[in-house]
Amino acid sequence: MVWPSFDFKVKDVKHRRLWLLVAVIITVYCSKCLSYPVSSSSSPGLAVPAPEIIKFMKRFGYLDSSSSDSEALYHEEAIKDAVKNLQKFGALNQTGILDNATLQLMISPRCGVPDIDPRRSRNKRYIVGAKRWQKKKIKYFIANWSAKVGEQKVADDMAKAFNIWSQYSNLKFKRVYDPAADIIVAFGAQYHGDNYPFDGPGNILAHAFYPYEMDSFGGDIHFDEDENWKENSTDLADGVDFFAVAVHELGHSLGLAHSPIYSSIMFPYYKGPRQTNLDFDDILAMYELYIKATFDEVDDEESDEQNGGDSHTTEMVDIEQTTVHATTPSSENRSTTFEGDFETVDSHKRKHGTITTARPRTTKPSYRPTEPTKATPIIPDICEGYLDSVTAFRGDIFIFKGKYIWRLTDKHRIMEGYPIKLWDMFPFLPKHIERISASYEKPFDDTLVIFSGKQYWIYDGYSLVGNTPKLLTSLGIDGAIQEIDAAMYWPKNKRTYLFANKVFWRYNEDLSVMEPDYPKNMTRWNGLPSTIDAATSIGNATYFFKGNIYWLYNNKWIRPERGFPRRMSHDWLGCPLTQRQRIRQFRFRTRH
Ligand SMILES: [Zn+2]
Ligand SMILES: [Zn+2]
Repeated sequence: MVWPSFDFKVKDVKHRRLWLLVAVIITVYCSKCLSYPVSSSSSPGLAVPAPEIIKFMKRFGYLDSSSSDSEALYHEEAIKDAVKNLQKFGALNQTGILDNATLQLMISPRCGVPDIDPRRSRNKRYIVGAKRWQKKKIKYFIANWSAKVGEQKVADDMAKAFNIWSQYSNLKFKRVYDPAADIIVAFGAQYHGDNYPFDGPGNILAHAFYPYEMDSFGGDIHFDEDENWKENSTDLADGVDFFAVAVHELGHSLGLAHSPIYSSIMFPYYKGPRQTNLDFDDILAMYELYIKATFDEVDDEESDEQNGGDSHTTEMVDIEQTTVHATTPSSENRSTTFEGDFETVDSHKRKHGTITTARPRTTKPSYRPTEPTKATPIIPDICEGYLDSVTAFRGDIFIFKGKYIWRLTDKHRIMEGYPIKLWDMFPFLPKHIERISASYEKPFDDTLVIFSGKQYWIYDGYSLVGNTPKLLTSLGIDGAIQEIDAAMYWPKNKRTYLFANKVFWRYNEDLSVMEPDYPKNMTRWNGLPSTIDAATSIGNATYFFKGNIYWLYNNKWIRPERGFPRRMSHDWLGCPLTQRQRIRQFRFRTRH
């Protein structure tokens, strides 16, 4: 027997390991069959390839996976067809012979989604995986990220990838901080919550689920945390380019299966960072799936209900009505918000507290010519998250959102009689104030510090103290800062932290001074996004909040505890979960 020669060099440990695997495969395979194709003398017409090869072929759909026996006998023709198909999806000559190139293909880095799936439609030039999204506005949630790439890069690259697909599909994507999103993007290692464990470094890099596939996971994208992820890596030995993999996986999330055409984004094997745009077939598929198809709002609502009925519909309607509202002539001193311009809607909602309820299903959004009266602000839906501030004050937890305050019981349920208006608790606040953006309890005298806009107040339970209100600049904060996002006293080092605009300050309560060399960048808080909504320490436990998620923070190791972030509204307020949300309460651990 002649050993095959390989055209890749044994550069490092990883490649050496892969080379050994090939050697093992060939040894095992050839010890049983000598050369391919061949019939075993004891059972004519049958061939028994090595278990690794059988496993690969079953995993990616080339052989029927219903047999649980990896040593099962397959008919020679079935194996040959499988090899031909495997070669087709690797853009190799379809010889049906397991040659060097084919074996090397099998150990190349690739996507974990099967190449051949009985559910997909085969009658088109491009290949559609399963169903398409039944709506045009799709929300995504980045549950965690790899420290090798970092939160900002993961967020930027995902936004870039969504943008590429958006151009050819007319779908609108919006990042939310809520696990109820349509698409959850997450990193996981080995077993990570679904039935498709990752495999350590190399081979499978990521996988994704088709829209509505497996119900709870539909649309989700998982990246193998054990890969050596890198930004703009042109050499696989240096690392795997994150963006290249993200664009491909997103194709699955939108309903596309693998393509055997090498130039397609949906080619199953890793091609490096060269390709930054869609190929003809990818564009054609998007056109057929999403542009030729018609959508309307009724369609949106019904399909949402059919697929688990979480709160998207209400929120989408909410966005539209808010948008319409903002463009009516009666809205004075407001910047115009364009239909579908998601980026401005959250800030709009937060500023104006215009939370509305879903309209009747079959009617179009109605224009509302008048403002809600200023005297009775609409109570924001606390179960949507996006809290302004969370603080423990004299043993009770208070949550601030818009012009309202919620107080929680020991068991994290809303206390009877709440919410109350800001002025019920703080009668000294000016009437024009829209919200309390941050708050914390001072550790030594149990006074409460509350922030709104460029001012802060110190409250002792009866009246204002410390000559407040004062301006943020009196604390040594730059005058350009419009408001503080979050504030907390950190028991770990007995300092107070103020957060705003991707930076934070550290304040010394003993000396009543801001410490020198601040502000510093939020990246110092491992595992947290660059901006947060709220933060608080209760006893020795520290929590950070963003959208509808929160992190319990490990103060010793300066990173989130395992299993975080989790859904805030369920854990903190007892807001009910739909069945779909319950299933989706799986956890990802972020490594640092
Ligand atoms: Zn794929
Ligand atoms: Zn997964």
